[in-house]
Amino acid sequence: MRKICNNFAKSIKSKAMENTEKIKLAGLKLTPQRTAVYNAMTTLRHAKLDEIVDFLNKEGNMMTLSTIYRILESFCKANLLSLVCRPDTGECYYDITVKEHHHVFEKGSIVDFDDQELTNIVLDYLKKKNPELKDIERVQVQIIKQNKQ
Ligand SMILES: [Zn+2]
Repeated sequence: MRKICNNFAKSIKSKAMENTEKIKLAGLKLTPQRTAVYNAMTTLRHAKLDEIVDFLNKEGNMMTLSTIYRILESFCKANLLSLVCRPDTGECYYDITVKEHHHVFEKGSIVDFDDQELTNIVLDYLKKKNPELKDIERVQVQIIKQNKQ
């Protein structure tokens, strides 16, 4: 049991160090606030601004909404986070995954759908259907499931 606890503690510590490295490598100054926000996002994965604020407050990191917003925006510009908006509701989620991937929305949840084959099918279709459509930077399919009770 003690070994498991030690390994768990080491895992948390190395993950925190990994997160600080990512912030520094992105060219951002490392601050306790930025570290707290990035650590929160590694736990939350996808989250709306108010969910991030609640999480940080519960963790004891008291920061203003504008500070958290500015940090999140700087992370998006530095490609540490991405932003995905649900087309039917307009709700936007900060996303810890920045590489190309798709999403499934169901009720209040958002789940990653990583499928390179789907990306290739869409790209091939677009190439055939509209050859003038070039320089596609990213394909992101958003699947919205029925909101059954
Ligand atoms: Zn995602």
